[in-house]
Amino acid sequence: MAKKQRFTVGWLYPDLMNIYGDRGNILTLLKRAEWRGFEARSIDLGRGTVKGMDGVDVFFFGGGQDREQALVYEDLLEHKQVPLEQAVAEGAMVLAVCGGYQLLGHFYQTAEGERFPGIGLIDVKTEAGKKRFIGDVVVDAGIEGLRPHTLVGFENHSGRTFLGSAARPLGRVRLGSGNNGSDGTEGCLEGGVVGTYLHGSLLPKNPQLADYLIRRALARRGITELEPLDDSTELAAHEAILRRAQPRAPER
Ligand code: GLN
Repeated sequence: MAKKQRFTVGWLYPDLMNIYGDRGNILTLLKRAEWRGFEARSIDLGRGTVKGMDGVDVFFFGGGQDREQALVYEDLLEHKQVPLEQAVAEGAMVLAVCGGYQLLGHFYQTAEGERFPGIGLIDVKTEAGKKRFIGDVVVDAGIEGLRPHTLVGFENHSGRTFLGSAARPLGRVRLGSGNNGSDGTEGCLEGGVVGTYLHGSLLPKNPQLADYLIRRALARRGITELEPLDDSTELAAHEAILRRAQPRAPER
């Protein structure tokens, strides 16, 4: 019996950067890899020197309030930047949500003006505003061939993120504020990094994005196709958010 191939998810700061059900993204990646016959595991990449980042297929960096971001940004620069850049250069993927997304950019500046330098893995910068963006979000994704092409989730952030020329948006908002509430973009795609403001958690209701991350991470092993799964429950949840996002017909 052929030994099962291993599939590894690396969870950055699970103790500090993990809000609004972000853990659901880890479970989704592990389960969908397991259902395709992989021996799936996740490793915690907390503060300090950590081992095993070179063996990770998909990194996950969740959200966190300004207080948590203040506790992790120096460690990210000191202990994670180099191995993360290395791993992504070698074909690993990264999914970063909200506070994690912001710290992968050039900087995150709080509403009080305090600036946390990021690692510049993606060409984005974020400055917090006074008003928080909170609510359901529906995005028309810009990933070729993604089916469904919509992404649904929930946002809660004060940061306004602006993309530089090297980053392209993950998609355009149909509902919600997205990156900054003004240019209609949401998230970013750059190299092996997918950044987004979508919590919820994101992947359980958007299984097509989970498979996109898994497939791209496996490409370096020559695996380009994934066996289809029965996603009827996941897609029913997706549809429910799309319906909820529909503007209601005026009362007669
Ligand atoms: N503290 C950041 C902001 O307010 C990120 C919040 C989050 O991760 N939900 O924008």
